[in-house]
Amino acid sequence: MATPTALSVPPNTKTGPSKTSPNEPRPFERRREPRYPTNDPVEVCILEPRYERVSGTVLDISRSGVRVQVRTPVAKTVHLEIILASRAIIFGETRYCRRHGDAYHLGVSIDDVYFAQDLFALHIEPDLIGLYLDGTGLTALQAIQIRNHLVNCSACRENLAARVALSSL
Ligand SMILES: [Zn+2]
Repeated sequence: MATPTALSVPPNTKTGPSKTSPNEPRPFERRREPRYPTNDPVEVCILEPRYERVSGTVLDISRSGVRVQVRTPVAKTVHLEIILASRAIIFGETRYCRRHGDAYHLGVSIDDVYFAQDLFALHIEPDLIGLYLDGTGLTALQAIQIRNHLVNCSACRENLAARVALSSL
């Protein structure tokens, strides 16, 4: 007999009272993912249910998402475009919206990033990796460029890992 796995559980079990799946992906609950703090103004285009463009601030950038502060509450699973000073556009979808004083913090998962110039094709310069590790000193545009480059470049990921190992000696 095969060992039962999570995938073999029938979808309509009558014994469990819970309707939610324990295997549902929750990317924003992976707290160990590093977030790069930023404080840059952005324009946020809310694409649903009707087009609306509001000003906001990028609070931080991680591999899977960005956190943005805006003045308007936005529902979950709404598609957005986050425009960084006409230099880059982050395409994403809202994961949560939390009230924060008289503003709202949106967790946005990143679907794609478009850059006006293809700067991230170059490897990351050592001084920029230093600022990335320091967690301060980069603009949101630089942080999202580095984030995108790291997603696609194993050489720079290894370089970053080596720098982390060195700095912890
Ligand atoms: Zn690289």
